[in-house]
Amino acid sequence: MHTFKELVYGDSGLGCGDPWALSFSYKQTDKLSKKDSKRGLKVFFHCAYANFQCASCRRTWPSVRVVLLFRYRLRGGKGTVIMRPFGQACRRCQDDNFHLPGFYKEEVKQALLRLFTEIRKNCYGEEDDSGESSGLGTTKVRSKPHERTLCEACHMGFCSQDDQDDK
Ligand SMILES: [Zn+2]
Ligand SMILES: [Zn+2]
Repeated sequence: MHTFKELVYGDSGLGCGDPWALSFSYKQTDKLSKKDSKRGLKVFFHCAYANFQCASCRRTWPSVRVVLLFRYRLRGGKGTVIMRPFGQACRRCQDDNFHLPGFYKEEVKQALLRLFTEIRKNCYGEEDDSGESSGLGTTKVRSKPHERTLCEACHMGFCSQDDQDDK
């Protein structure tokens, strides 16, 4: 939340003068209703590195494929961003509980910067001149294969969209 404000109003931020607000939703999907689209709502995915901790057995584990789903729109000079992080289940417990990730500040920043690029393009009509097409910047971290059965985003069919990066 803090990072978000810093970025919106900071030097590398949106620089648009419009206020943007961030909130969380743990239910939203990428499916936009007709009404949503009409209201200018857009969807953006990001894949980040994060840590998890199981609430039952306290096991912790890292994952390089933590999916973040953003919905955003600009209306009447006010911007809204709704973020949903996807959880992962504990391999030891296998109890179908998806635990929410804990992100490093730097990861959050990367995600938001990419989101802002999208916003500039889609809400303010700016060209993407960052030349940054590599996309999933943090996936260089090597880790074990992605465990689809334990991934909430996989369950909902979001993760499989960029399969090539999953080595
Ligand atoms: Zn556990
Ligand atoms: Zn997944």
